[in-house]
Amino acid sequence: MGVFAASRMHHRPSGTNNPGQRCDLSGNLKNLVVGAGISGAVVARKIAEEWTEPVTVVEARDHIGGNLHDCRRDEVMVQRYGPHIFHTNNEEVWKFLGHFTEWWPYQHRVLGFVDGQQIPIPFNLNSLRMVFPKTLADRLEIKLLKKFGFGTNVSLPDLPRNDEDLNFLAEYVFQKVFLGYTRKQWGLPPAAIDPAVFARVPAVRISRDDRYFLDRYQGIPLHGYTAMVQKLLAHKNIHVHLNTPFARDMPYDRLFWTGSPDEFFENKLGSLPYRSVAFDFLTLARDKFQKVATVNYPNDHDFTRITEYKHFLDDRSDGTIISCEYPADWCAGVNDRQYPIENRKNAALHASYKAMAKGFSNVYFLGRLGDYKYYNMDEAIARAMAMVKELANSLKENV
Ligand code: UDP
Repeated sequence: MGVFAASRMHHRPSGTNNPGQRCDLSGNLKNLVVGAGISGAVVARKIAEEWTEPVTVVEARDHIGGNLHDCRRDEVMVQRYGPHIFHTNNEEVWKFLGHFTEWWPYQHRVLGFVDGQQIPIPFNLNSLRMVFPKTLADRLEIKLLKKFGFGTNVSLPDLPRNDEDLNFLAEYVFQKVFLGYTRKQWGLPPAAIDPAVFARVPAVRISRDDRYFLDRYQGIPLHGYTAMVQKLLAHKNIHVHLNTPFARDMPYDRLFWTGSPDEFFENKLGSLPYRSVAFDFLTLARDKFQKVATVNYPNDHDFTRITEYKHFLDDRSDGTIISCEYPADWCAGVNDRQYPIENRKNAALHASYKAMAKGFSNVYFLGRLGDYKYYNMDEAIARAMAMVKELANSLKENV
């Protein structure tokens, strides 16, 4: 049985109502935030602290943190909605979060299972030497270094197709690393997805650095993401209501909507598609299952990757907990929204909702769902911080 099937996790930050208890949301709400994920928590905190205004946060789930939610199970910090690794070059975001958590200096490493061996992903000079005979690996490495230089990240379209060796390498990486994974992850061929989605991961990294991210600041909150979000929300001006979906009759001056825009507009223009993931959690009676936190399976099995959670905070426990990820289309009431599906068609539908939102001058959309954007955590946080700043400026101008 999966770890989360046995019992549901409950989390009660200070200032929340008891799960299930009715709460009074009938009075006029100065600032109403819908969603207690990272975007909602950052907006709430900034307004509560910098504007000293009351903020009400309503959250439909029974916990805070959105898809970052984590909790300890058998001494292992487990992320219920899959692996999240914080990484950023944005100093302002890093400094801001530093008020709410200490960091465990974790650096993410991913291996990809390719033709029976686990090779570093992004595919790098170490991967090259693992999969090709020495003479070919030597030739490719020399050509890559000459063309791009050491320490560069090369995306698939940048690999020259007029050089036989580099063309071979581009095809190899596309076939062995991207094609199968992308089909499973998105349920679509790569051509049907915005190329920016693959560009998140370099096709070839011309170095021997096996880390997944190269950002200046990286880590996992020392006491978990939920504890960090709890601290963000722990302010006398913030009131959080769990198990409380947004209701049309909630009266507000300003509304910060971190859900999907189509939901706010009651699907008037149609439903924005999302990808979801089913997590199969397993507890195993052994110290470690795999060498690194995440192993990707581009070409084997129905799942995309296996994550072993004890790697993140170097948890010491007799057993271990892993999750296998089975991507699926998001289906209302069945599973959770995880990824906006970025392509031209969906961007057009989102743009129509954005146009509609212009008629609601006191409603602000943000977050991975609200902006329908495949944000990393730091981007979502930066967006929330910038939104509060911009709003403060426009309010000043209107005084
Ligand atoms: N990707 C891939 N093979 C890999 C890793 C990533 O094809 O081994 C592609 C895939 O399309 C994926 C995208 O790159 O959806 C972004 O990967 P990332 O690791 O950023 O995904 P996340 O951790 O956000 O799910």
